Amino acid sequence: MTDVCGRYAPTPSGRLHLGNARTALLSWLWARSLRGRYVMRVEDLDPGRSRAEHERDQLADLRWLGLDWDEGPDVGGAHGPYRQSERGEHYAAALARLHTFECTCTRRELREATFAPHGREPVYPGTCREGVSHPERPRAIRWHTPPGVMELHDAIQGPQREDVEREAGQFVLRRADGAWAYQLAVVVDDAAMGVTHVLRGADLLHSTARQVLLQRTLGLPTPAHAHVPLVVGPDGEKLGKRHGAPDLTALREGGADPQRVVAALARSVGLVGASVVRVRARALVADFDVTRIPGHDTALESTDVQ
Ligand code: GLU
Ligand code: ZN
Repeated sequence: MTDVCGRYAPTPSGRLHLGNARTALLSWLWARSLRGRYVMRVEDLDPGRSRAEHERDQLADLRWLGLDWDEGPDVGGAHGPYRQSERGEHYAAALARLHTFECTCTRRELREATFAPHGREPVYPGTCREGVSHPERPRAIRWHTPPGVMELHDAIQGPQREDVEREAGQFVLRRADGAWAYQLAVVVDDAAMGVTHVLRGADLLHSTARQVLLQRTLGLPTPAHAHVPLVVGPDGEKLGKRHGAPDLTALREGGADPQRVVAALARSVGLVGASVVRVRARALVADFDVTRIPGHDTALESTDVQ
């Protein structure tokens, strides 16, 4: 094995759909094709939305697809625990090293005070920077984001630039209800687990600059990034229930052939030709090249997998 380490980091708030399956498969192929380790990390930061049965089904689904992992909540490992709900002390230690401030603004106040670019969270207007506006309320913790433009390279999406302070603002590291923010947890955990290769959905591309800024400020290494396109239905919208697309648990429990599912996922990003109807995940390792994955959304017919 090399020093390369990849990971998949599912949120156990529901079932995995075909888009998640494709992202997981590609992240596994990237790590394995570089002879790296692979870590399964459960991102159960939100206690209200995370369920043990979703974690169980998700891991069973991923094994059914043919993926394996060297470390994870079900197999253990040297960098655990592998559930974010059990890693609070690591996040607290990182938080203590950052220049932060408390914030008592509600979502509604923020919505009213700010203009959110389409599809993004509102940029924090700075209300509590010099002191909280409502001392009686519970307090979130925000980061005094350092100024400057981040330049990043994404193995699929190419060069990226972002002024974090202006475009994401002084973002939350810990919510007022005590839950740790994804942005902080992911940075702390990727470093603690030795992750060198992050492949995930393109919906997280805009989070990367914030994470790299945290890594640099905390003196942590920055992994290589690859953001894979979303899976869309024939109508160009994100593939989902509306398209009659089955989730992975339904496919597994319904007796579907996992090699057909892997083949359909692989065809949709051009890893195999149109004539390949069944393939093992393992068989895709040798030829995998992350730079050949298309950067744009790609369609998948849900009938392809059944
Ligand atoms: N937990 C995130 C999700 O389920 C993925 C985070 C990441 O890969 O950085 O979308
Ligand atoms: Zn505030």
